Amino acid sequence: MIKKEPTSASALLAYDKTHVWHPYTSMSAPLPSYLVESAHGVHINLASGESLIDGMSSWWSVLHGYNHPKLNAALIEQSQRMSHVMFGGLTHSSAITLCEKLVSLTPAGLDKVFLSDSGSVAVEVAMKMALQYQQAKSNTPAEHIKTKLMTVRNGYHGDTFAAMSVCDPVTGMHQIFEHVLMKNIFAPAPSCKFGDVWQPSDVKALTELFEHHHHELAAFIIEPIVQGTGGMRFYHPEYLKACRQLCSQYDVLLIVDEIATGFGRTGKLFACEWASISPDILCLGKTLTGGYMTLAATLCTSEVAQTISNGEAGCFMHGPTFMGNALACAVANASIDLLFENNWQHQVHSIEQQLQVSLLPLKAHARVNDTRVLGSIGAIECLQAVNVAVIQKRFVELGVWIRPFGKLIYIIPPLVITKEQIINLVDAMATVLNEDSCFLP
Ligand code: PMP
Repeated sequence: MIKKEPTSASALLAYDKTHVWHPYTSMSAPLPSYLVESAHGVHINLASGESLIDGMSSWWSVLHGYNHPKLNAALIEQSQRMSHVMFGGLTHSSAITLCEKLVSLTPAGLDKVFLSDSGSVAVEVAMKMALQYQQAKSNTPAEHIKTKLMTVRNGYHGDTFAAMSVCDPVTGMHQIFEHVLMKNIFAPAPSCKFGDVWQPSDVKALTELFEHHHHELAAFIIEPIVQGTGGMRFYHPEYLKACRQLCSQYDVLLIVDEIATGFGRTGKLFACEWASISPDILCLGKTLTGGYMTLAATLCTSEVAQTISNGEAGCFMHGPTFMGNALACAVANASIDLLFENNWQHQVHSIEQQLQVSLLPLKAHARVNDTRVLGSIGAIECLQAVNVAVIQKRFVELGVWIRPFGKLIYIIPPLVITKEQIINLVDAMATVLNEDSCFLP
């Protein structure tokens, strides 16, 4: 028999602490969780009464704010027709319309769309596409088929096994699985920063690795322009251009992971546009549904799709149960429409301008190593790592929701945030910088 559900806030939190896993959290000594009652616009409302300005967009996913009437309406309308039907043998207008939008908005040549459940799965799908493509294309014996991936250090592509194998082996959070992961090849991280004068020497090691390994490389995967989890590092677009050029030269597929950067975050609709490149395979997630539901997409060129389809298997070997979920597709369509209705370029530009004025000067603080801003992303890299439990509590007391990691205190607010609310977020960041208890010794 199912026990009666706990209802009071304290009972819920006690149950949560004892039975519910949270991301990257210990079950024996969990970091505190705050109970959310509701969220509206850029505010997250806690059961304890505080209303917090959201600086995180729920891990980069929320674009137009919480509880948006148009996104709510899209979900209600879709649910009254159907929430989900299997995608094997069936299709529907919400998925077709979404794929049409994605093909027309993403860089040229990405004509085929595979819908899936989450960012990590979109990366798995991309890697599988690359491996199946090389296998289908190859006339050589099995042992000579290109089966390795190459990537750069400081990257992050998700938590599933293939995705983990292309995360940075040290900062990518998956070091303890090293012994069971696919052995891939790592180039040094791009070091020439966005906005600096381009140094062609930055791609020297990468070029050499392509020369030595191209015969075994199925694909090269990279986050475009922004290495997010690997440290909010913004790198020079020429680096990405060089990746495209080397992949073409050596017949290696280029996979670009736009899961964190897609839909305007960096000031371009897709970060690839900073380098004017088109990848062979592109991954989207996070903001795809405006932060409402989990949905991801992997797009590829006709050449990739046709080679796979003409290969030995005769089809692409993947098909998740919730592929093309109708609710998620309907809300994604409404979110993409809102981007244009709301003039996303203007929204991102005004966030960027405000961050430049209020966040960049914090570089002068004795505890700060660097500050950087790109599009709607603002980051403070401290000299010490933060004490997550203490700093989180202080942010809540200061009326904001900011979740730092390592030495990074960063924000990526919903696009509908006002200038005053950005100032509130940055003021809170400036306040904690003065508090020793928020940092590890
Ligand atoms: N790729 C990148 C660049 C990401 O930032 C993330 C999520 N942080 C992922 C992939 C994985 O996405 P998900 O958490 O939805 O599986």
